[in-house]
Amino acid sequence: MLEERIARLEKRLERANRARQAAENLLEAKSAELFEANQALQSLNSNLEKRVEARTAELEAQRQKAEKLALTDPLTGLANRLALNIAIGAISEGDPALVTGTAFFAIDLDRFKAINETCGHHTGDQVLKIIGQRLGAAINASDQLYRVGGDEFAILCHGRNDPAHLATQLHEILCEPMQAGDHLITIGASIGVAVWSDAVNSLGTLVTYANKSAYQAKARGGGIAVCDEKMALEFAAANSLESELAEAIELNEFEPWVQPIVEAVTLDLVGVEVLARWPSKHRGMVGPHVFIPIAERSGLIDRLAMQILDKACKSLAPLLADARLDYLSFNLSPIQLNNPDLAEQILKTAFKHDVWPSQLTIEITENLLISNTELVRQFMNKLSDNGITFVLDDFGIGYSNLRYLQDLPVERLKIDRSFLVDATANEAPRRIIAAITNLAHQMAIGVVVEGVETEAQTALVRNLECDYIQGFGIARPMPLNEFPGWLTNYEARNAQLSSNLQHANAAIA
Ligand code: C2E
Ligand code: CA
Ligand code: CA
Repeated sequence: MLEERIARLEKRLERANRARQAAENLLEAKSAELFEANQALQSLNSNLEKRVEARTAELEAQRQKAEKLALTDPLTGLANRLALNIAIGAISEGDPALVTGTAFFAIDLDRFKAINETCGHHTGDQVLKIIGQRLGAAINASDQLYRVGGDEFAILCHGRNDPAHLATQLHEILCEPMQAGDHLITIGASIGVAVWSDAVNSLGTLVTYANKSAYQAKARGGGIAVCDEKMALEFAAANSLESELAEAIELNEFEPWVQPIVEAVTLDLVGVEVLARWPSKHRGMVGPHVFIPIAERSGLIDRLAMQILDKACKSLAPLLADARLDYLSFNLSPIQLNNPDLAEQILKTAFKHDVWPSQLTIEITENLLISNTELVRQFMNKLSDNGITFVLDDFGIGYSNLRYLQDLPVERLKIDRSFLVDATANEAPRRIIAAITNLAHQMAIGVVVEGVETEAQTALVRNLECDYIQGFGIARPMPLNEFPGWLTNYEARNAQLSSNLQHANAAIA
């Protein structure tokens, strides 16, 4: 019995051993397979890694190339404006100690447009390349040179102890004659420099002030302008004025004041000149000499002009409708004729308030006519076809090109005040006023004399046969709301005067 049990147990043990062996064999075979598979996977992986690496390197190279292209000016090979902006951003975020020694040079070529036009664009391109090379050769390796626009270059440098000296050197180098193709060319440059200081303590300001300095240099006919503390303070004041001005336009704060224009002999009112005023919250009443130039420069002048015209038309429409006033005359800045929509806007504003175009007169100065004759002609003709008339303002002090009187729709001219100032004492200005008046009358153009302050001047202007008078002697410019009251008094006084005159005449007869 026992033996049988042992034999059975042994058999079971043997079976179990065989099963274990079989399992072990299977396991061995499987792990060899697994090992092989693993090997294959690893080699596949490393292949893939290599390919990804190669592709990444290729993409990076392409990216760097594209970035370089985007940051390079293709003509000169110099860094471009985008590169400058990036560099400025990087400096701003970097070590403050580095910022402190920064200087910025804004370089604007003189007469480049003329070279392009007379010698051709190919020569113009060559000139720009030569300029780029000259500037590149003149600066240190640590200075950065950029071409930031058509004929504008810029240099950013750190730790230079005499930027003004460098500016002088650069200017001399740029003024040297150059051979561009068949042309021997001499070009000049206007260079503005700003250096980091207490008054110029942001990179944006540094660039802006250098540009403004270059603009000042250009206005003086070229050369260099280094922004010192006094200039920086002036720029800052103009900047804050500009933002106040923008706000004032947004809030519709500008006011038209009016000054009467009367017939010289009868002293009857014919029109008013609209003169802009700004009742500023911070500065009190500000005159046009302060804000007009800034409005022109900052592109706000059109909105300002339309606000003034709109208010003037609205307020004066009843007097125009009653024929107590023949016309209102308003001033336009030369720069405004670059806006092709302006003529349309003026007409719209008039119609909005039931003012006839024939009741509007536009005063323009002679310089305006010199700047862009064809554009001006189109502008003037469009308005004059609609019945608006034109006055040549400040006549006699500009170029006084008489062709304008012949070619353009000019209804009246205003003799500049400076002639009248000493005309009562001197013969020469009297002769000039007489000659201008005579000439104008020959061409059926009326003559206004402005700045008439005294009885003697009024008498003189009448003697010289000028047609209209404007000046403190009649009335100073006044706010719109005072004008109807002034007019009522003035009409009553004039009526009294002429009735006195009639009585006197009757008594004599
Ligand atoms: P303007 O067109 O020659 O205007 C005449 C200026 O002479 C006015 O100065 C006026 O107040 C002043 N005036 C008038 N009569 C007399 C007088 O008897 N004696 C003296 N000493 N001055 C007199 P205002 O208002 O300061 O204007 C200055 C200039 O600003 C104007 O010269 C005109 O060129 C410009 N301006 C005024 N309003 C506007 C405007 O709305 N748009 C534009 N673009 N320019 C304007
Ligand atoms: Ca005027
Ligand atoms: Ca004038």
